Amino acid sequence: MSGEVWDFAIIGAGMAGASIAAELGPHARVLLLEAEDAPGYHATGRSAAFWEECYGGPGVVPLTLASGPYLREHGFLTTRGALYVGRAEDRGAVDDFVATFAGTGVTIERIGREALVRHVPEMRTAWCDAIYEPACADIDVAGLHQHYLAAARRAGVEVVCRAQVAHLQREPGGWRIATGGGAAFRAARIVNAAGAWADRIAGLAGVAPLGIQPLRRTVVQLRVAPEAPADLPLVLDVSGNFYFKPDAGRLWLSPHDEIPSDAADVAPGELDVAIAIDRFEQATDWRIEAVERRWAGLRSFAPDRLPVYGPDPADSGFFWFAGQGGFGIQTAPAAARLGAQLALGQGPDAMTDGIDPAAYAPGRFQRAKSIQTA
Ligand SMILES: Cc1cc2nc3c(=O)[nH]c(=O)nc-3n(C[C@H](O)[C@H](O)[C@H](O)COP(=O)(O)OP(=O)(O)OC[C@H]3O[C@@H](n4cnc5c(N)ncnc54)[C@H](O)[C@@H]3O)c2cc1C
Repeated sequence: MSGEVWDFAIIGAGMAGASIAAELGPHARVLLLEAEDAPGYHATGRSAAFWEECYGGPGVVPLTLASGPYLREHGFLTTRGALYVGRAEDRGAVDDFVATFAGTGVTIERIGREALVRHVPEMRTAWCDAIYEPACADIDVAGLHQHYLAAARRAGVEVVCRAQVAHLQREPGGWRIATGGGAAFRAARIVNAAGAWADRIAGLAGVAPLGIQPLRRTVVQLRVAPEAPADLPLVLDVSGNFYFKPDAGRLWLSPHDEIPSDAADVAPGELDVAIAIDRFEQATDWRIEAVERRWAGLRSFAPDRLPVYGPDPADSGFFWFAGQGGFGIQTAPAAARLGAQLALGQGPDAMTDGIDPAAYAPGRFQRAKSIQTA
C-alpha cells in the first residue's frame, strides 16, 4: 500500500463512477476503482441508448432535462422522437400519462391513429391512441462514457481496473480499501458508484443498505421485414409491455421486463425473449426474420425508484451515487455535476440550479421510516 491518501475513492467505473470522477477530478485527488478488466462491462455497456424526457417518471425529469444541453452540445444525441402507444383499453393509461407529466417541462403531444401510423405504419389497427415526444434522442453511450473517462484521466484521476473492492475498513481520517487481488489504498471518502452492487458495498463499509434492488432487463435485436426504417421513433407501449427502436437497419426490442436479480453478470432468459417476440408480433405487422442478438443487464432501483446522491446520514465519509435505474445514461451529466457539488460542498451552477437535491438524498428513507413509526 502506498502512503498516498486519496480525497475520494470511487468504487465502480460505469457511467456513474466515470462521470462523477470527471466532475470531482479538477477539485480533488481521486481514485477510480473498477472490478472488471475494463470499465463499462455491466449496465452501462448494455443500455438501449436513448434519452427520453419522461423516462423514469416526473422525479427524474429535472435530471434528464438538465442533462440535455450538455449531451447535445457535446454531440452525444441524435434526435429520433418517441411515441407512447395505446389501444382503446389503454385510454386511461394515456390520460394518466399526460396528466402526470403536465407542468414538468417535457414536450409531449397527444395524437390519434392517423398520425400514429404516419410514424409507424406497421402498428396494428388496435393501436389508436398515442403521445408523441419530439425531443427523444439516441445517445452515443460509449462515446459519453469514454468522454468522461478521458476527462477524468486528464484531471489526474487514477483509474485502476481489475480492482474488486473486497474490504473497507474505517481508520482515523478515512478508509483503508483492500481489493480481492491484494492491492490496498487509503482514501478520506468513499463514493459508492457500484450500480447493482451498491448495497453490497455499503455492507462492506458497515453502512446500512438502502434496499437498492437490481432488476433484470432484456433486449433482443431483430432482423424484420420490411426493414426497420432509420427514422422510426422509439415506440413504447404506454402500459409498459414493450419498447422498440431501430438500430442500423435492425430493431432493438425489449419486453420491458423487471426481474428481481442478485448483482451478477446476467444473461437473458429464454422466457423473456419469447415474451418480447410474442408482444411484438401481437402489436405490429412486421415479420421477424431472425433474432440476431440478445442481451440483459441490471437496472438498479432504490425503493422509491429515484436515484440516491449524497453522504450517508450515519457516516458522511460514505457518499452514495447509486440507484440510477433505467435512466443512468440520460441523466449522467446533471447527476455527476450535482453529485460532485454535494460531495465538495459547492452550491449549484447553471446546470443544476433547477434540481432539488433533497429529492435524491439518502436520508429521505430514514425520514420516511421515522414518519411511519411516529
Ligand atoms: C437493458 C438496459 C437498457 C437500458 N437503457 C437505458 C437507456 O436507454 N437510457 C438510459 O439512460 N439508461 C438506460 N439503462 C440504464 C443504465 O444503463 C444504467 O442506469 C447505468 O448504466 C448505470 O450506471 P452505473 O455506473 O451505476 O452502473 P454499472 O454500469 O453497472 O457500473 C457499476 C460498476 O461497478 C463495478 N463494481 C461493482 N462492485 C465493485 C467492487 N466491489 N469493486 C470495484 N468495482 C465494482 C462493476 O464492475 C461495474 O462496472 C438501461 C439499462 C439496461 C440494463
